[in-house]
Amino acid sequence: MNFLINILGSGAALPIGARRCSAQVLNIGGFKLLLDCAEGTQDRIRYNHLKLQSLSTVVISHLHGDHFFGLPGLLSTMHLCGRTEPVLIVAPKGAREVIETTFALTGNHVGFPLEWHEMDFAEGCQRVFENRKCTVDAFPIDHTVPTYGFRISENANGKTYVYCCDTAYSESLLPHLSGADLLCLECTFANELANLAEERKHLTAGQAGRLARMAGVLQLMLSHISARYREPDLLLQQAMQEFENTFVAADNMRIELKKDEASVIKMPSQKS
Ligand SMILES: [Zn+2]
Ligand SMILES: [Zn+2]
Repeated sequence: MNFLINILGSGAALPIGARRCSAQVLNIGGFKLLLDCAEGTQDRIRYNHLKLQSLSTVVISHLHGDHFFGLPGLLSTMHLCGRTEPVLIVAPKGAREVIETTFALTGNHVGFPLEWHEMDFAEGCQRVFENRKCTVDAFPIDHTVPTYGFRISENANGKTYVYCCDTAYSESLLPHLSGADLLCLECTFANELANLAEERKHLTAGQAGRLARMAGVLQLMLSHISARYREPDLLLQQAMQEFENTFVAADNMRIELKKDEASVIKMPSQKS
């Protein structure tokens, strides 16, 4: 079974330059799942020829705009393009109210069923989705608003992808990251801005590398790169001092998750 990860946005906070904000489409044996939905995600889905209407499941880590503000527009476009099939949205508590209020106050609606699985932070770790292809387990992480990381496990070959964005440094994350074939960690700041990272509950590059090493993952992907780093070489170097098998995500990058080898094939962008 193929396990593909399409990076639609790899930047933090501001959609500037070559990096839009967080969104990824996973394709697990033909089942597609959208992971986070920043502003402009629907445009990036089209750009990468991923077929908007083939998405049936959206998973949101937290309600900060750089992970969530693309969702009303995406749902509206699905409606305008004639969708009738339901969409499942897994998101922190409050997302449903935001979407329903937005549609109510703006006179928009969607003509297809929206199914909701709202995660309550007080409930801790929880399985939020499963089908024949994969399971998705959510775990709470320490950020400035209720935030979840996700462990996505392929059912056939057991490949595991962990997405953890955004988070403060905490070794309590390790059991959830442990043994992943690929770990996607946020990497908002270089080591020199450790104080800012702590204040804003984000990671430095060195902290991301350290967590990957301590968790015993196969490979680390750095994402959620601050717009202040036009070239991410410094972040990569600092992470690799802690954990060598690391690369930096780029928008429109496609990754194929492999078991028992280098685990990731980095494909060039489909368009320059
Ligand atoms: Zn963010
Ligand atoms: Zn955030």
